[in-house]
Amino acid sequence: MSILPVTLYGDKILRKKAKKVEKIDNETIKLISDMFETMRNADGMGLAANQVGSEASIFIVDLSKVQGYEKTKPMVFVNPKITEQSVEESVTEEGCLSIPDIRGKIKRPEAVKMVYYDAELNEITLEADDLLARVVQHEYDHLQGIFFTDRLDDETQCKLKKSLLKIKNRKIEFDYPVTPKDKY
Ligand code: ZN
Repeated sequence: MSILPVTLYGDKILRKKAKKVEKIDNETIKLISDMFETMRNADGMGLAANQVGSEASIFIVDLSKVQGYEKTKPMVFVNPKITEQSVEESVTEEGCLSIPDIRGKIKRPEAVKMVYYDAELNEITLEADDLLARVVQHEYDHLQGIFFTDRLDDETQCKLKKSLLKIKNRKIEFDYPVTPKDKY
């Protein structure tokens, strides 16, 4: 397993829609295990493949470091689709390993139903609420090329412009390895 550099806001791959995974080969297995190592090294709860430079439609989630979720197993989502969303919404502060040091209050459906495949390509239907629903929606957004900051109001987005530019130009300190500018 290796820790991979994390792509940052401004990297084009984070604006691309992910590509469907047709088969799980050794390369995919290595990608998934590297993603877990990369996410844990950066203290993340979720990570999408484009955050480590891959266009595969895969994200991972591990909530076991979160109080109250210690018993939750790490999860791998291949070719995920949100099939239902609750009408009820909630607002929670979010952050992102590709947008370090920026947080924002984001409104999202409180619960979602998601159909996806696990790392053995078994089809799974997940009904998630609360923190898990929040994290899977954030990661699912990544696979569509969407950042949580896109969901902030125009005024807040405007205020963040300078900070985002600093991230894009690698002008801040990073707590984990990141990709060089313009590589992805
Ligand atoms: Zn993110």
